[in-house]
Amino acid sequence: MKHAYAPIPWYGSDCRLGLHVDFHASANDVELGAVDVDALESQLRCMNLDFVQIDSKGGGGFTSYYAKTPGATVCPVLKGDLVKAWRLATRRVGLPLHAHWIAMSDGLANQQHPDWRRVDEKGATDSERLCYRSPFVDACMIPQLLELIGDWEIDGIWVDGEAWHMLPCWCPNCLAAWKEAAGETPAPSTPADAAWSRWVMFHRSGFDDYVNRYADAIHARFPNCRICDNWSLTLSQPGAPHLHVDFISSDDAAPYGVENIRHEARFVSTRGLPWDFMQWLFYGNRVMHDPTQPQTVRPLEQIQQAAAYVLALGGNHQIYEQPARRDGGLIDWRVDRIAAINCWCRQRVDLCRDAEPWEDVAVLNSEHHHERHATGANLLWSFDMNALRGAVSAVLARHRGVDIVDEWALLPRLDRFAVLIVPEQEDVSDDLVSAVKAWVHNGGRLLLSGAGAPERWGAEFLGVEPGAIAAAATWHVPAGDGRVPLWSKTWRLAAVTKACGLGVLSRNDDLLRSQTPHPAATIHTVGKGVVAWLPCDAFAFYERSRYALIREFLGGVLDTLGGRRDLRIRAPLAVEPILRRRADAHVIHLINRSGGFGTGPSDSAVEQIPPVGPIEIELALSACPDAVHAAWEGGALTWSWTPAATGGTALIRLDRLQIHEAIVVKA
Ligand SMILES: [Zn+2]
Repeated sequence: MKHAYAPIPWYGSDCRLGLHVDFHASANDVELGAVDVDALESQLRCMNLDFVQIDSKGGGGFTSYYAKTPGATVCPVLKGDLVKAWRLATRRVGLPLHAHWIAMSDGLANQQHPDWRRVDEKGATDSERLCYRSPFVDACMIPQLLELIGDWEIDGIWVDGEAWHMLPCWCPNCLAAWKEAAGETPAPSTPADAAWSRWVMFHRSGFDDYVNRYADAIHARFPNCRICDNWSLTLSQPGAPHLHVDFISSDDAAPYGVENIRHEARFVSTRGLPWDFMQWLFYGNRVMHDPTQPQTVRPLEQIQQAAAYVLALGGNHQIYEQPARRDGGLIDWRVDRIAAINCWCRQRVDLCRDAEPWEDVAVLNSEHHHERHATGANLLWSFDMNALRGAVSAVLARHRGVDIVDEWALLPRLDRFAVLIVPEQEDVSDDLVSAVKAWVHNGGRLLLSGAGAPERWGAEFLGVEPGAIAAAATWHVPAGDGRVPLWSKTWRLAAVTKACGLGVLSRNDDLLRSQTPHPAATIHTVGKGVVAWLPCDAFAFYERSRYALIREFLGGVLDTLGGRRDLRIRAPLAVEPILRRRADAHVIHLINRSGGFGTGPSDSAVEQIPPVGPIEIELALSACPDAVHAAWEGGALTWSWTPAATGGTALIRLDRLQIHEAIVVKA
């Protein structure tokens, strides 16, 4: 996958562990910048870091350095230059330094320039968000950043308050640009409007132009300054990565375990750019900013569990800290915790770096579908990802490797995957449909879901007579030894023609008395390949319900689909694999995603993760491996080799998995 923009290379594959610190300076700060550089240097050394990001301007709009550019407002009670202090300390330790800089959510610029504000659909101005088409970018952002980068030789800029916080804007500039793009189509005002998705994507595209504008201006003056726009190019922004940024990063504030990271990392790792994931060191139970749930540090195991996904998939891992002490230094006991996290991560980075994907199942995150299905106003979050998430979870429950790919990432390497799942995405591109059909004819295994699949893919390709569309309803499907209810927004009451039905729909779980002739799923051989179809929103339902019997139903369809299986893992449900290849080895990462102690509604933390096992792995290889070992956790591993006519199978048994182990099979 090639990028139109050539990103500035990352610092190297050794540079993996980061620390992000911000303060969001306010007029009430009385000691900001008074940090002792010697003490800070010692804290940085203790944490064993590779790169650092420090506050330079927060949501309040005050800079925490002595900005001189007209329009910048230095924190009025600043006691010393915070950026200078951190630059001095990071220089001594030999670490790259990035600056955290809030752009579109700059509260002071918003107050000072009401005419720069975003305008809502009723014409009211937004006191939290600027318009990305306002003069802010040229008048404030670019000159201030050029000064900051030049004065302190900043290595990178991490721009925040961006797409994750932005909403469409109805200001005169935006409406004029819309008229130029959309002609006489009026700007929509609600998601119910037929043009809503186009309106949201118009703003996303305009926002991307703004990102490229500031990125180009910085790169023109400082060609080695790496730029990141927080959350841009992540899971909810599929499509060719056209931004002129040099790395992808996002901060996870979610006050629960690994749900976000297990999806985000599987997608961002396919973007062809350096990437990191930033875990908040702290959380409030279930919510982010509730004063009755004051924030505390996350359990160490919870951070390790999530970091495992990042490291295994080749990403960099950052910890976000916002210390209660306000001088710009860090709190020692929390520094010790970060050091412990990094020590755990550091054991893993050697094996994780320079590894390549080992493709098994691809779950599509189609940009063409996505762009036509905005359900709300936010430029990042207004998209229903339930079907995609449900598909990933269902496949992982079968202990198979999963990558989440958009069409841009999938098409050049479709042949490398054994299975492709298109979960409830009916508006995929014509190019994708024709490429995937050809791939199926040549042996690919395709799993489609959704009532609209016959129209998009052709009833003949599915081997069915599509039948009527039924509106929102519950039907029962076969699962394991019984049946399970499945609610879907739309159903297809189909009949098989050349396909085989995999069970039938029934009105309740008494099959004998309530069965219908309509298949619960179908499977059809096409050339050398196979296509299976679930005629409903099965994956979205699984994401919402997580019913064990739905998992059985979906897993059964996946198993029936067949296809190339070099690897089979038998393990407890909590074990998720990530499959990677190195020049001399297959690496099977195993992550224990158990929640540990507590199952009540207040138990959002992950702690005391119980070990799980045993785990049995069958790996077909062309020759007996030289060695097989478990890299980190010390569980007992045994293995044997069974030769076959060509090659053979390694049978590997690991007795226990604590949080994150890697089975290394050396050729
Ligand atoms: Zn606007």
